[in-house]
Amino acid sequence: MNPLLITGSIALDSVKTPIEEHHDMLGGSASYAAVAASFFTPVNLVGIVGSDFPPAYRDLYRHYNIDLAGLEVADGKTFRWSGEYEWDLNNRRTLSIALNVFETFEPKLPLPYRDTPYVFLANIAPALQLHVLAQVSAPRFIVADTMDLWIETTRDDLMTLLPKIDCLVLNDSETREFTRETSLVKGARKILDWGPKYVVVKKGEHGCLLFGRDLFFSAPAYPLEDIHDPTGAGDCFAGAMAGYLAKEDRVDHDTLRRAVIYGSALASFNVEAFSLGRLQTLTPQDIEERYRLFKQMSHFEAT
Ligand code: AMP
Repeated sequence: MNPLLITGSIALDSVKTPIEEHHDMLGGSASYAAVAASFFTPVNLVGIVGSDFPPAYRDLYRHYNIDLAGLEVADGKTFRWSGEYEWDLNNRRTLSIALNVFETFEPKLPLPYRDTPYVFLANIAPALQLHVLAQVSAPRFIVADTMDLWIETTRDDLMTLLPKIDCLVLNDSETREFTRETSLVKGARKILDWGPKYVVVKKGEHGCLLFGRDLFFSAPAYPLEDIHDPTGAGDCFAGAMAGYLAKEDRVDHDTLRRAVIYGSALASFNVEAFSLGRLQTLTPQDIEERYRLFKQMSHFEAT
């Protein structure tokens, strides 16, 4: 099996919705991505936590066979984030963010990680993504995620990253902000011109679009009735997508289309409970069943 290297944030999250509120749950882009990817392929995790990181969360990673040789434990506090959702769960407000141990993080990859063939750079400062990538010797396929904060504050670093990766994943509003285009098609084309071979534009509960120079694919949204916490959906999407590509060890157009559907399936499960609650009860059979439903939902016969 081809392992997938994942770096990104590891957080203690506090999340409030109009109905529920939970504190200090396991979160962070790398946590969601790693657990989602682990359903497809072994994961090598690169990140940092503080001395306050609960042992139970470390055990949770272990439960998914996530390799923790690249997980640094530093003196100080784990990264913390809190956010609040309104009734429209597409709209999120960040209430507070404390980088803590991430402020001085200088990731050093364990030797066996350096030739991991597939890489997912989950959302974190692009300078850190670049630092990790520089230590991987001959990656076959690199997926990266980003967010509005980095588009606004570290655009130059992001532009340096783009020619070094194969696929950028970002959401619709970030695409518009990054490219200053109202059309997602024009925006995605612009990003392709900046370096990556593929761009995936996520549209929240409305599905996602995959663009390549001679590829366009539109993935439907799963009609969810029970959304409890959208946090981490994007990370699960990209983690599962990269995990599936690593498992298949192929990145042709058909495999990419399937990877996008597996990503959408994992994201749709993740929002059914807070933190990683739903992924903890998820089985490979559940995933296959939802994958088939995605096919059924979007298939039609031309007369
Ligand atoms: P998503 O809902 O996919 O955008 O990801 C949510 C996760 O991102 C949460 O678990 C947060 O801990 C994490 N997060 C929030 N802000 C940042 C940031 N500036 N850098 C890295 N991770 C973040």
